[in-house]
Amino acid sequence: MSTQQFDEMFDFVAVGSGGGSMCAALVLRKLGKSVLILEKTGLVGGTTARSGGVMWVPNNRFMEADGIEDSYEKAAQYLDATSGQPDDAPAASPERRAAYLQQSPKMVDFLVEQGIRLRRIPYYPDYYDHLPGGSVPGRTVTAELFNVKELPAEWQAKLRPSAIPFPAHLDELYWLPTLTRSMKGKLNLAKIMLRGLAAKLTGKELAPAGRALQGRMLQAVLKAGADIRVNAGVSALIMEDGAVKGVVTTKDGAPWRVGARLGVLINAGGFAQNQAMRAKFMPETSSEWTGVIEGDTGEMLQEMMNQGAAVAQMDETIGCQMALPPGRENKSGNGVTFGAFAGQMDIAKPHGIIVDQTGVRYMSEGSSYSEFCMTMRKRHKTVPAIPSYWIMDDQYMKTYMFCGTMPGKAKPQAWYESGWLTKADTLEELAGKTGINPATLKATVERFNEDARAGHDTQFGRGERAFDKWLGDAVAKGNPSLGAIEKGPFYAAKVVPGDVSTFGGVMTDVNARVLREDGSPIPGLYATGTSAASVFGRCAVGAGASIGPAFTWGYVAAQHAANAGNLAV
Ligand SMILES: Cc1cc2nc3c(=O)[nH]c(=O)nc-3n(C[C@H](O)[C@H](O)[C@H](O)COP(=O)(O)OP(=O)(O)OC[C@H]3O[C@@H](n4cnc5c(N)ncnc54)[C@H](O)[C@@H]3O)c2cc1C
Repeated sequence: MSTQQFDEMFDFVAVGSGGGSMCAALVLRKLGKSVLILEKTGLVGGTTARSGGVMWVPNNRFMEADGIEDSYEKAAQYLDATSGQPDDAPAASPERRAAYLQQSPKMVDFLVEQGIRLRRIPYYPDYYDHLPGGSVPGRTVTAELFNVKELPAEWQAKLRPSAIPFPAHLDELYWLPTLTRSMKGKLNLAKIMLRGLAAKLTGKELAPAGRALQGRMLQAVLKAGADIRVNAGVSALIMEDGAVKGVVTTKDGAPWRVGARLGVLINAGGFAQNQAMRAKFMPETSSEWTGVIEGDTGEMLQEMMNQGAAVAQMDETIGCQMALPPGRENKSGNGVTFGAFAGQMDIAKPHGIIVDQTGVRYMSEGSSYSEFCMTMRKRHKTVPAIPSYWIMDDQYMKTYMFCGTMPGKAKPQAWYESGWLTKADTLEELAGKTGINPATLKATVERFNEDARAGHDTQFGRGERAFDKWLGDAVAKGNPSLGAIEKGPFYAAKVVPGDVSTFGGVMTDVNARVLREDGSPIPGLYATGTSAASVFGRCAVGAGASIGPAFTWGYVAAQHAANAGNLAV
């Protein structure tokens, strides 16, 4: 029995309102336990609510219903091939990967049983679909759109906004950039607009993506009777004899000590908004290049470290390549918004390549956002590559959207004047203006063009995976991934390794318990989401590689806390 004095007692306390806390709350309320979720900001849902809201869950019920082949064994083979080695990525141990594969489909079943309406994204290839066990249709689950007006009135304005301004599914949005070139693009736009209009006429507020997911979770958690508080940051863990017994938050501006009989779950995000922590763990990156919310400042990670937690993979991010025009950086602390920059869907289109500052191409532009940024950061250790240059020709600019501007439309003069975007009639002139070696750039482009014409990237295999093709031009008459850079004027835009989260954190075990350096668990302490080092190590294996585990480990932690390890809710 704790000898601590508390202002308030609960069975379980979750720090942060990410999806793992919501899952844990649902599990524990079902078991009749009292739960408190403490959220630092004034809004519920975290970066998860802002996000695309997709979860990577192999062998899930929706795949089975759609007749898509998958199995535990197939997914295990895939993780063996992608998720790194234990010495380099200790959180991706075989035991934890196995636990993830066993528990994540159960987590989805559990949510569906609690009334959370989920669905499959019909086609979203794994990022390494060519490797053993990879899935071409994909293993990605998302929420149905959610009418925010279904929430109790006082919670509607507290649900964090989405990065997506339309009531649309990701698979519908995929077609919008082809609007000027395809019927499917036009039809999808019409469908989304009509849906938005119908919602307005009927008094609905339809949330998409992560906001739909977290809106549905919030609704279920409130119905289940959990207590959620906003503007209630946690500053410290309360320890007794090496075990976590509660947390210190604030109430009416004063410290407030909350006891937790069964445990505390940290789901407080990572440290993407903390430049000092970046300087320590990933100095070549910047908090000006992150898309995460303002609350992602890493203090709970530091507090867990203070209490002896081991950390891993702290130099890793869920990268997000950003061709980020000046003035659109994360200077307000609210994260870079989508549409502000050209990202993976743009940079992987034909008629463009990435080169380092010497003019050498060094990666497949069709690789996943995480791999792209990891490769750029690695390159920068030996050759200046941050920023790298995205070299495009006139065919690119006339065919594709560029940082929110329509194909063929003039780009803002300020982009040129700042030196962020450069335009020239010849490649030699482009090289001269950017400081790239002209002979090297010319040779790089000539080599790429030969490959593009032959339809085979002999250097990096771009376009050989279903994933690369999906990233490419959905309505291209020729190769969806490769196109020669041959028609002037030519362009060079600076690209940096941005991110949509950090990917390292505290070490946790198969029950989501936080571990010390010696591998022993800190009693009473659990972690999930980007507060914990990823079960996928240094690899984003598919769409939803952050939110899938965040939900799953919350689900697991709650069962462990309530049932002392018996995972049968
Ligand atoms: C635009 C965008 C799209 C993305 N799309 C996807 C996607 O579709 N799928 C995917 O897997 N990943 C996606 N990502 C990445 C993903 O959204 C994040 O990695 C993930 O949501 C992080 O979840 P989390 O549970 O760790 O943290 P969060 O969802 O951010 O929740 C943590 C919460 O804890 C709060 N908090 C922090 N400190 C404290 C404290 N001391 N006390 C109390 N509360 C605290 C924060 O304010 C925050 O609300 C995307 C990211 C972005 C930016």
